[in-house]
Amino acid sequence: MKIQEAKEILTSLNRLSLCSYDTPIQHLKHLEELTGINGLYIKRDDLNGVGPGGNKVRALEYLLGSAVENHSDIVIASGQMNSNLCTIAAAACCKIGIHCILVHNNDEPKYPTGNTILNNLLGIERVYLGEKPESYRNEYIMQMAIELKKKGHTPYIIENGATTPLGAIGYANIPLELFEHNSQYHISDIFVAGGNGGLAAGVALGNMLLSNPYNVHVITVENTVDELNLILEDLMKNMKTLLNIPQNPLMKCQYSLHGDYRGQGWGISTPESINMIHELAAAEGIFLEKIYTSKTFFGMIDLLKKGSIVSKGACFIHSGGFGALFGQYSS
Ligand SMILES: *Cc1c(COP(=O)(O)O)cnc(C)c1O
Repeated sequence: MKIQEAKEILTSLNRLSLCSYDTPIQHLKHLEELTGINGLYIKRDDLNGVGPGGNKVRALEYLLGSAVENHSDIVIASGQMNSNLCTIAAAACCKIGIHCILVHNNDEPKYPTGNTILNNLLGIERVYLGEKPESYRNEYIMQMAIELKKKGHTPYIIENGATTPLGAIGYANIPLELFEHNSQYHISDIFVAGGNGGLAAGVALGNMLLSNPYNVHVITVENTVDELNLILEDLMKNMKTLLNIPQNPLMKCQYSLHGDYRGQGWGISTPESINMIHELAAAEGIFLEKIYTSKTFFGMIDLLKKGSIVSKGACFIHSGGFGALFGQYSS
Protein backbone atom coordinates (compact mmCIF):
# COMPACT_ATOMS: atom_id res chain seq x y z
CA MET A 1 0.00 0.00 0.00
CA LYS A 2 1.22 3.51 -0.83
CA ILE A 3 1.81 5.94 2.01
CA GLN A 4 -1.00 8.22 0.84
CA GLU A 5 -3.46 5.36 0.96
CA ALA A 6 -2.26 4.38 4.45
CA LYS A 7 -2.73 7.97 5.62
CA GLU A 8 -6.25 8.05 4.26
CA ILE A 9 -7.16 4.90 6.15
CA LEU A 10 -5.85 6.37 9.40
CA THR A 11 -7.68 9.65 8.91
CA SER A 12 -10.98 7.90 8.20
CA LEU A 13 -11.76 8.16 11.93
CA ASN A 14 -12.32 11.36 13.84
CA ARG A 15 -8.99 12.60 15.12
CA LEU A 16 -8.19 15.70 17.13
CA SER A 17 -4.91 17.33 16.29
CA LEU A 18 -2.91 17.52 19.53
CA CYS A 19 0.61 16.57 18.46
CA SER A 20 3.13 18.71 16.70
CA TYR A 21 3.96 16.43 13.76
CA ASP A 22 6.17 14.90 12.92
CA THR A 23 8.31 14.17 15.95
CA PRO A 24 12.08 14.60 15.51
CA ILE A 25 14.33 11.72 14.49
CA GLN A 26 17.80 12.08 15.97
CA HIS A 27 21.03 10.26 15.25
CA LEU A 28 22.73 9.01 18.44
CA LYS A 29 26.31 9.51 17.29
CA HIS A 30 27.97 9.59 20.67
CA LEU A 31 26.22 6.43 21.80
CA GLU A 32 27.28 4.73 18.56
CA GLU A 33 30.90 5.48 19.44
CA LEU A 34 30.47 4.23 23.00
CA THR A 35 28.70 0.99 22.05
CA GLY A 36 30.37 0.25 18.72
CA ILE A 37 26.91 -0.13 17.11
CA ASN A 38 26.34 1.63 13.80
CA GLY A 39 23.03 3.21 12.88
CA LEU A 40 21.36 4.21 16.16
CA TYR A 41 18.40 6.56 15.99
CA ILE A 42 15.70 7.81 18.30
CA LYS A 43 12.28 9.17 17.38
CA ARG A 44 11.33 11.73 20.00
CA ASP A 45 7.68 11.05 20.72
CA ASP A 46 8.53 12.36 24.18
CA LEU A 47 8.69 15.81 22.56
CA ASN A 48 5.23 15.85 21.07
CA GLY A 49 4.01 18.93 22.77
CA VAL A 50 1.19 18.15 25.22
CA GLY A 51 2.03 18.21 28.93
CA PRO A 52 5.23 16.26 29.58
CA GLY A 53 4.79 14.53 26.18
CA GLY A 54 4.87 10.88 25.25
CA ASN A 55 3.12 8.17 23.26
CA LYS A 56 -0.25 8.62 24.96
CA VAL A 57 -0.75 11.92 23.12
CA ARG A 58 -1.22 9.94 19.92
CA ALA A 59 -3.81 7.61 21.49
CA LEU A 60 -5.66 10.59 22.93
CA GLU A 61 -5.97 12.19 19.50
CA TYR A 62 -8.35 9.40 18.55
CA LEU A 63 -9.97 8.87 21.96
CA LEU A 64 -10.69 12.55 22.54
CA GLY A 65 -11.70 12.84 18.90
CA SER A 66 -14.39 10.31 19.72
CA ALA A 67 -15.28 12.15 22.96
CA VAL A 68 -15.79 15.38 21.05
CA GLU A 69 -17.80 13.58 18.37
CA ASN A 70 -20.07 12.24 21.14
CA HIS A 71 -20.45 15.76 22.61
CA SER A 72 -18.91 14.64 25.88
CA ASP A 73 -18.39 17.38 28.44
CA ILE A 74 -16.37 15.45 31.02
CA VAL A 75 -13.44 13.10 30.47
CA ILE A 76 -12.57 10.58 33.18
CA ALA A 77 -9.06 9.14 33.13
CA SER A 78 -7.63 6.83 35.74
CA GLY A 79 -4.46 5.14 36.90
CA GLN A 80 -1.89 5.24 39.64
CA MET A 81 -1.19 8.81 40.72
CA ASN A 82 2.09 8.91 38.81
CA SER A 83 0.44 7.64 35.60
CA ASN A 84 1.71 9.25 32.41
CA LEU A 85 -1.64 8.73 30.75
CA CYS A 86 -3.46 10.66 33.50
CA THR A 87 -1.24 13.74 33.26
CA ILE A 88 -1.22 13.77 29.47
CA ALA A 89 -5.01 13.31 29.34
CA ALA A 90 -5.43 16.15 31.84
CA ALA A 91 -3.14 18.44 29.84
CA ALA A 92 -4.91 17.55 26.58
CA CYS A 93 -8.31 18.26 28.15
CA CYS A 94 -7.05 21.67 29.33
CA LYS A 95 -5.90 22.36 25.79
CA ILE A 96 -9.23 21.49 24.17
CA GLY A 97 -11.36 22.89 26.99
CA ILE A 98 -13.10 19.77 28.32
CA HIS A 99 -13.47 19.18 32.07
CA CYS A 100 -11.28 16.29 33.23
CA ILE A 101 -11.45 14.13 36.35
CA LEU A 102 -8.56 11.89 37.34
CA VAL A 103 -9.29 8.88 39.52
CA HIS A 104 -6.30 7.37 41.32
CA ASN A 105 -6.24 4.17 43.34
CA ASN A 106 -3.78 5.61 45.85
CA ASP A 107 -3.89 7.63 49.03
CA GLU A 108 -3.50 11.34 48.42
CA PRO A 109 0.24 12.00 48.74
CA LYS A 110 1.46 14.33 51.44
CA TYR A 111 4.37 15.39 49.28
CA PRO A 112 3.46 15.33 45.59
CA THR A 113 6.19 14.24 43.20
CA GLY A 114 6.51 13.73 39.45
CA ASN A 115 3.27 13.75 37.51
CA THR A 116 1.28 14.54 40.66
CA ILE A 117 2.92 17.97 40.78
CA LEU A 118 2.02 18.53 37.14
CA ASN A 119 -1.58 17.51 37.85
CA ASN A 120 -1.67 20.12 40.63
CA LEU A 121 -0.38 22.77 38.24
CA LEU A 122 -3.03 21.83 35.67
CA GLY A 123 -5.67 22.41 38.34
CA ILE A 124 -7.49 19.21 37.46
CA GLU A 125 -10.19 17.60 39.61
CA ARG A 126 -8.90 14.45 41.30
CA VAL A 127 -10.31 11.59 43.31
CA TYR A 128 -8.01 9.49 45.50
CA LEU A 129 -9.59 6.15 46.31
CA GLY A 130 -6.86 4.92 48.65
CA GLU A 131 -4.80 1.80 47.92
CA LYS A 132 -7.33 -0.29 46.00
CA PRO A 133 -7.16 -2.83 43.14
CA GLU A 134 -7.81 -1.72 39.58
CA SER A 135 -11.14 -3.57 39.55
CA TYR A 136 -12.38 -1.37 42.42
CA ARG A 137 -11.28 1.75 40.55
CA ASN A 138 -13.10 0.64 37.38
CA GLU A 139 -16.29 -0.09 39.32
CA TYR A 140 -16.05 3.31 41.00
CA ILE A 141 -15.74 5.01 37.63
CA MET A 142 -18.77 3.18 36.22
CA GLN A 143 -20.83 4.45 39.17
CA MET A 144 -19.40 7.95 38.78
CA ALA A 145 -20.43 7.98 35.11
CA ILE A 146 -23.97 6.91 36.01
CA GLU A 147 -24.23 9.75 38.56
CA LEU A 148 -22.87 12.29 36.09
CA LYS A 149 -25.37 11.18 33.44
CA LYS A 150 -28.23 11.63 35.91
CA LYS A 151 -27.07 15.23 36.30
CA GLY A 152 -27.25 15.77 32.55
CA HIS A 153 -23.55 15.33 31.74
CA THR A 154 -22.07 13.22 28.97
CA PRO A 155 -18.96 11.62 30.45
CA TYR A 156 -16.28 9.92 28.38
CA ILE A 157 -14.20 7.25 30.08
CA ILE A 158 -10.65 6.60 28.95
CA GLU A 159 -10.22 2.89 29.52
CA ASN A 160 -7.20 0.68 30.13
CA GLY A 161 -4.56 3.44 30.17
CA ALA A 162 -5.69 4.53 26.66
CA THR A 163 -4.80 1.10 25.29
CA THR A 164 -7.97 0.33 23.40
CA PRO A 165 -8.25 -0.53 19.70
CA LEU A 166 -9.21 3.08 18.94
CA GLY A 167 -6.36 4.55 21.01
CA ALA A 168 -3.81 2.15 19.53
CA ILE A 169 -4.67 3.34 16.03
CA GLY A 170 -2.96 6.61 16.98
CA TYR A 171 0.39 4.82 17.06
CA ALA A 172 0.02 3.54 13.52
CA ASN A 173 1.09 6.98 12.36
CA ILE A 174 4.61 6.44 13.75
CA PRO A 175 5.94 4.17 10.96
CA LEU A 176 4.31 6.42 8.37
CA GLU A 177 6.28 9.40 9.68
CA LEU A 178 9.50 7.39 9.74
CA PHE A 179 8.88 6.17 6.21
CA GLU A 180 8.68 9.70 4.86
CA HIS A 181 12.26 10.29 6.03
CA ASN A 182 13.62 6.99 4.81
CA SER A 183 15.95 8.37 2.20
CA GLN A 184 17.66 10.38 4.93
CA TYR A 185 18.07 7.78 7.69
CA HIS A 186 18.08 4.20 6.33
CA ILE A 187 16.24 2.70 9.26
CA SER A 188 15.41 -1.02 9.09
CA ASP A 189 14.37 -1.84 12.65
CA ILE A 190 11.98 -0.12 15.07
CA PHE A 191 12.04 -0.80 18.82
CA VAL A 192 9.03 -0.11 21.04
CA ALA A 193 8.05 -0.83 24.62
CA GLY A 194 5.30 -3.37 25.21
CA GLY A 195 3.23 -2.48 28.28
CA ASN A 196 -0.52 -2.85 27.75
CA GLY A 197 0.38 -3.37 24.10
CA GLY A 198 -1.30 -0.40 22.44
CA LEU A 199 1.90 1.24 21.27
CA ALA A 200 3.27 -2.01 19.88
CA ALA A 201 0.03 -3.04 18.18
CA GLY A 202 -0.41 0.37 16.57
CA VAL A 203 3.16 0.53 15.27
CA ALA A 204 2.82 -2.98 13.84
CA LEU A 205 -0.45 -2.01 12.15
CA GLY A 206 1.02 1.13 10.57
CA ASN A 207 3.96 -0.92 9.35
CA MET A 208 1.58 -3.47 7.85
CA LEU A 209 -0.28 -0.72 5.98
CA LEU A 210 3.05 0.12 4.31
CA SER A 211 3.63 -3.60 3.50
CA ASN A 212 6.05 -4.09 6.40
CA PRO A 213 9.13 -2.06 5.41
CA TYR A 214 10.45 -2.28 9.00
CA ASN A 215 11.18 -5.06 11.44
CA VAL A 216 9.13 -4.12 14.49
CA HIS A 217 10.68 -5.27 17.78
CA VAL A 218 8.58 -5.20 20.91
CA ILE A 219 10.38 -5.39 24.24
CA THR A 220 7.93 -6.50 26.88
CA VAL A 221 8.21 -4.60 30.16
CA GLU A 222 5.21 -6.16 31.85
CA ASN A 223 3.67 -9.39 30.53
CA THR A 224 5.30 -12.59 29.34
CA VAL A 225 5.83 -12.89 25.59
CA ASP A 226 2.88 -15.30 25.29
CA GLU A 227 0.55 -13.03 27.25
CA LEU A 228 1.56 -9.97 25.24
CA ASN A 229 1.17 -11.84 21.98
CA LEU A 230 -2.47 -12.64 22.78
CA ILE A 231 -3.11 -9.00 23.73
CA LEU A 232 -1.54 -7.77 20.48
CA GLU A 233 -3.48 -10.19 18.29
CA ASP A 234 -6.73 -9.11 19.87
CA LEU A 235 -5.91 -5.40 19.51
CA MET A 236 -4.94 -5.83 15.87
CA LYS A 237 -8.10 -7.70 15.01
CA ASN A 238 -10.21 -4.95 16.57
CA MET A 239 -8.19 -2.12 15.02
CA LYS A 240 -8.71 -3.66 11.58
CA THR A 241 -12.44 -3.84 12.21
CA LEU A 242 -12.55 -0.16 13.22
CA LEU A 243 -10.62 0.82 10.10
CA ASN A 244 -12.58 -1.50 7.79
CA ILE A 245 -9.45 -3.38 6.82
CA PRO A 246 -10.34 -6.89 5.63
CA GLN A 247 -9.06 -9.76 7.84
CA ASN A 248 -6.98 -10.93 4.92
CA PRO A 249 -4.06 -13.32 5.47
CA LEU A 250 -1.97 -11.13 3.15
CA MET A 251 -2.53 -8.15 5.43
CA LYS A 252 -0.76 -9.61 8.42
CA CYS A 253 1.02 -7.65 11.11
CA GLN A 254 4.58 -8.82 11.60
CA TYR A 255 6.57 -8.20 14.74
CA SER A 256 9.08 -9.86 17.05
CA LEU A 257 8.55 -10.05 20.77
CA HIS A 258 11.50 -9.99 23.16
CA GLY A 259 10.94 -11.19 26.69
CA ASP A 260 14.38 -11.05 28.28
CA TYR A 261 14.31 -7.50 29.58
CA ARG A 262 11.24 -7.21 31.78
CA GLY A 263 12.97 -8.50 34.93
CA GLN A 264 10.38 -9.10 37.65
CA GLY A 265 7.66 -7.33 35.68
CA TRP A 266 5.94 -3.97 35.51
CA GLY A 267 7.54 -1.20 37.50
CA ILE A 268 10.48 -3.25 38.75
CA SER A 269 13.77 -2.11 37.29
CA THR A 270 16.72 -4.29 36.47
CA PRO A 271 20.32 -3.20 37.21
CA GLU A 272 20.89 -2.92 33.44
CA SER A 273 17.83 -0.73 32.89
CA ILE A 274 18.90 1.63 35.67
CA ASN A 275 22.40 1.85 34.17
CA MET A 276 20.85 2.62 30.81
CA ILE A 277 19.13 5.73 32.19
CA HIS A 278 22.51 7.09 33.29
CA GLU A 279 24.31 5.99 30.15
CA LEU A 280 21.92 7.59 27.67
CA ALA A 281 21.67 10.79 29.71
CA ALA A 282 25.46 11.08 29.90
CA ALA A 283 26.00 10.20 26.23
CA GLU A 284 23.20 12.15 24.56
CA GLY A 285 21.45 14.36 27.11
CA ILE A 286 18.23 12.35 26.72
CA PHE A 287 16.24 11.10 29.70
CA LEU A 288 14.63 7.67 29.97
CA GLU A 289 12.42 6.59 32.88
CA LYS A 290 12.33 3.39 34.91
CA ILE A 291 9.16 1.58 33.87
CA TYR A 292 9.04 1.55 30.07
CA THR A 293 11.76 3.32 28.18
CA SER A 294 14.91 2.24 30.05
CA LYS A 295 14.09 -1.48 29.80
CA THR A 296 13.25 -1.12 26.13
CA PHE A 297 16.28 0.96 25.27
CA PHE A 298 18.57 -1.46 27.08
CA GLY A 299 16.91 -4.35 25.24
CA MET A 300 17.61 -2.70 21.90
CA ILE A 301 21.28 -2.06 22.71
CA ASP A 302 21.79 -5.56 24.10
CA LEU A 303 20.18 -7.34 21.12
CA LEU A 304 22.24 -5.28 18.68
CA LYS A 305 25.49 -5.67 20.63
CA LYS A 306 25.13 -9.44 20.88
CA GLY A 307 24.40 -9.65 17.17
CA SER A 308 20.99 -11.30 17.82
CA ILE A 309 19.63 -8.59 15.55
CA VAL A 310 21.64 -7.41 12.57
CA SER A 311 20.34 -4.01 11.58
CA LYS A 312 21.14 -1.37 8.99
CA GLY A 313 19.60 1.25 11.24
CA ALA A 314 17.77 0.85 14.53
CA CYS A 315 15.29 3.41 15.78
CA PHE A 316 14.03 3.58 19.35
CA ILE A 317 10.60 5.14 19.75
CA HIS A 318 10.93 7.34 22.83
CA SER A 319 7.50 7.00 24.38
CA GLY A 320 7.97 9.63 27.09
CA GLY A 321 7.52 9.36 30.84
CA PHE A 322 9.46 12.51 31.68
CA GLY A 323 6.88 13.53 34.28
CA ALA A 324 7.06 10.17 36.05
CA LEU A 325 10.87 10.23 36.20
CA PHE A 326 10.90 12.78 39.02
CA GLY A 327 8.55 10.64 41.11
CA GLN A 328 10.73 7.58 40.49
CA TYR A 329 13.79 9.18 42.07
CA SER A 330 12.12 10.97 44.95
CA SER A 331 12.07 8.37 47.70
C1 LIG B 1 2.04 3.81 28.44
C2 LIG B 1 3.47 3.92 28.11
C3 LIG B 1 4.10 3.00 27.26
C4 LIG B 1 3.48 1.73 26.75
O1 LIG B 1 2.32 1.83 26.09
P1 LIG B 1 1.33 0.58 26.00
O2 LIG B 1 0.44 1.01 24.93
O3 LIG B 1 0.69 0.46 27.34
O4 LIG B 1 2.12 -0.65 25.68
C5 LIG B 1 5.43 3.18 26.95
N1 LIG B 1 6.12 4.23 27.46
C6 LIG B 1 5.57 5.12 28.28
C7 LIG B 1 6.41 6.21 28.81
C8 LIG B 1 4.21 5.01 28.64
O5 LIG B 1 3.67 5.92 29.46
